[in-house]
Amino acid sequence: MAEVNSESGLAMCQKDAYVRSLSATVLSCEPVPEAPPKKAKKGEKKETPIPKWMVVLSDTVIYPEGGGQPSDFGTLNGAQVSHVEKKNGAFVHMCAAPQEVGSEVEVIVDWNRRFDHMQQHTGQHAISAVADRLCNAPTVSWELSTEYVNVELAPEGELTASMIDEVEKQANEEIRLARAVNSLVLDGMVENAEPAFLRGKLPPVGTHKEVRLVQIEGLDVNACGGTHVKSLAELQMLKVLRIENAKGNTRVVFAVGGRALSLLSSCLARQNQITKLLSCNAEEHLERIEKMVDDKKDSVKRIKSLSEELALIRGKALGESPSGVVIHHQTGADLPFLQSIATAAQEVNPNALYFLTAENPDVPADKKRDVEGIFLLVGPANLVDEAGKSAISIVGGRGGGRGGKMQGKATNLEKREDVLPILEEAMQKLSV
Ligand SMILES: [Zn+2]
Repeated sequence: MAEVNSESGLAMCQKDAYVRSLSATVLSCEPVPEAPPKKAKKGEKKETPIPKWMVVLSDTVIYPEGGGQPSDFGTLNGAQVSHVEKKNGAFVHMCAAPQEVGSEVEVIVDWNRRFDHMQQHTGQHAISAVADRLCNAPTVSWELSTEYVNVELAPEGELTASMIDEVEKQANEEIRLARAVNSLVLDGMVENAEPAFLRGKLPPVGTHKEVRLVQIEGLDVNACGGTHVKSLAELQMLKVLRIENAKGNTRVVFAVGGRALSLLSSCLARQNQITKLLSCNAEEHLERIEKMVDDKKDSVKRIKSLSEELALIRGKALGESPSGVVIHHQTGADLPFLQSIATAAQEVNPNALYFLTAENPDVPADKKRDVEGIFLLVGPANLVDEAGKSAISIVGGRGGGRGGKMQGKATNLEKREDVLPILEEAMQKLSV
């Protein structure tokens, strides 16, 4: 990798997170070594590989992944940069197009993503500092992604939900105080006096050329190389979303600034839709939904008992039919319901053949529901064995069975009446 011309080793985005573009020199440009092609699965289209180049620049405003903060996105002379990392002191940009070595390129950061990261990351410093001070709960790790930001706290004692409420309250108080956020760079090669409010430790002498500290005036100092806002006022607000248990530690999921506002907007939009649907105020939503859930449980019970009653009545009526072969189509039935009808019918007349069908409830109402469906053929075993296969083939039946019962799906229920002569013939043949 080429040497970096940056005297301090810090990129422009680390010196000043508000610089959105700069001109930098291309120190090297190499194609990304091709990953072995993935074997396409049967029927799967072969993926076209996106050409990517590793472009090393003298400096950058696109933050390289590190310290828990994901890489920024951006462009080099208009070509997309999807990732930046720092390798052996060099800022390596994964770029969609090659760049000429020695040329000057315009580097632009995707500011929306960057500012969101600045808000979430500085919010993390604030919540970690407050949790440490109020609850003796040091931060052991943190995560930031497009949807998700959290800190994992390792409290010395218990950390209750009301304590986290207090942390949120205090963090917002710090935001209202609009505390200044500064970057301090210490010489990493010499012993430094411990700054006031230091959270965590300074790295051992000699391990870093420079130690970059982020200071929230009057609240916190922490070694960090990420991008931050210059005043807590720019965080606008911090909202804890939930608390999770993380193997004995406490994970606090939160949202800051733009994310908190956008969450609030989507919550309100959803709430307004629910208000319209339920025709009641938001304060009554919970009560109304609880009642609906209870009502639904009651309805399901009632439908079940009425269905059983209906199946019994229908089955008895079919059993009383003078004919030895009974064909019946039941609207809105499933297989258990057809089975209940058949059981009730067989109790009245076990010697008859019953061919029951119902439309497929999964087929939308505007389609021909009476074509696709389910069937059940029951009766004396020898009769079902004799005529079953040819009977169900008439309705395009798939499925099987034994012991006087066949059941399954059918694709041509329109022909169900044509099953009658086949079953009657078997009945006559075996009754002789
Ligand atoms: Zn930081």
